[in-house]
Amino acid sequence: MARINDNYLKLQAGYLFPEISRRISEFTQANPKASVIRLGIGDVTKPLVPAVLKAFHEGVDEMAEAATFHGYGPEQGYDWLSQIIIDKAYKPLGVDLKTSEVFISDGSKCDSANILDIFDLSNKVAIGDPVYPVYNDTNVMVGRSGQMNDKGHYAGLVYMPCTEENGFNPVFPTEKVDLIYLCFPNNPTGTVATKDQLKAWVDYAIKTDAVILFDAAYEAFITEADIPHSIYEIEGAKQCAIEFRSFSKTAGFTGVRCGLTVVPEELLGTTADGKKYSFNKLWNRRQCTKFNGVAYPVQKAAAAVYSDEGWAQVKEIIDYYMENAQVIREGLSAAGIECFGGVNAPYIWLKTPEGMTSWDFFDKLLNECFVVGTPGSGFGPSGEGYFRLSAFGERENVETAVQRIKEKWGK
Ligand SMILES: *Cc1c(COP(=O)(O)O)cnc(C)c1O
Repeated sequence: MARINDNYLKLQAGYLFPEISRRISEFTQANPKASVIRLGIGDVTKPLVPAVLKAFHEGVDEMAEAATFHGYGPEQGYDWLSQIIIDKAYKPLGVDLKTSEVFISDGSKCDSANILDIFDLSNKVAIGDPVYPVYNDTNVMVGRSGQMNDKGHYAGLVYMPCTEENGFNPVFPTEKVDLIYLCFPNNPTGTVATKDQLKAWVDYAIKTDAVILFDAAYEAFITEADIPHSIYEIEGAKQCAIEFRSFSKTAGFTGVRCGLTVVPEELLGTTADGKKYSFNKLWNRRQCTKFNGVAYPVQKAAAAVYSDEGWAQVKEIIDYYMENAQVIREGLSAAGIECFGGVNAPYIWLKTPEGMTSWDFFDKLLNECFVVGTPGSGFGPSGEGYFRLSAFGERENVETAVQRIKEKWGK
């Protein structure tokens, strides 16, 4: 019989979201009349905007005629889309990129997982705690870790606690690492890195010969003027960083699937015999062999996000979500609950009142306020004592949820 990849058995068996669902259904069975409000989801709720939908439809219609039909496209995405992204999303930040450095893909979850293909297993990896679970689990899957300990950390991976003390911007690892995952604006904490903080990371990566894997999936939610949207706003970042972006949260593409990865040509690694080699070339090779590009109508739809009309429509929805975030943040604060994030990201990271554990707070919130959120401990041991609320909901529900929390905890 064929041997399985035993590394998969080291993984914690998808515990967080199934457990949340189990507790919700237990509650709703016992309380069928309770109107439960879900602020736990990490998915958007608003549909595609009209300008995007129009371009999407046009793309589909083109597929109906031999003259305008599109078969296999470039594995790297169409140049016209890469150029629009460069012009509209990077140039205004003062960042110059070539289309050969932009790789269009089916999403940044996929890319942030697939990127491990181009790095040797011997590389030491540092990830945040709490963290977007993909970074951790994909490293376990490829065999870069040992077993998980009681705390929830895997042997062989380096964890960087993101805590209230360090403002949820982790301190540099004390041992030499080769790959550093950073996600700003952060999921789950909703916090951001300032230009100075990001510069310190870039300087550190250059000094220690490390590569930063920068997840900017939430950059469109930044509202404060001086917060960087791209790591390439920092001098030297092209020598040390790969950036992931996504249309998922920005433009409601979670079910449509489109993202992009920037691998600068200046970014080099070393071969087994100590020669320098381009990661851009490796990623290009990887994509050409293992990926066949994003559907043509999807790329048309993605391009429409950056039309004047499309961007105005998309921005309106982002603003709506961010107003939800403000309602949650201000409501919780008024109830005496300490919270973080929610200013430049659609997530609020609250400190559980009265020192409750994340799961105790989950149960209390569900049973007494009929509100569902996500226990912080599910994102890593340093998330214990915290709780994530998402702003991707309907205003009315958000307001009702906040009202119920205020009535319960407000003084
Ligand atoms: C939602 C999310 C993404 C987006 O993933 P897609 O595959 O593009 O949908 C990436 N990173 C983080 C941290 C996210 O929360």
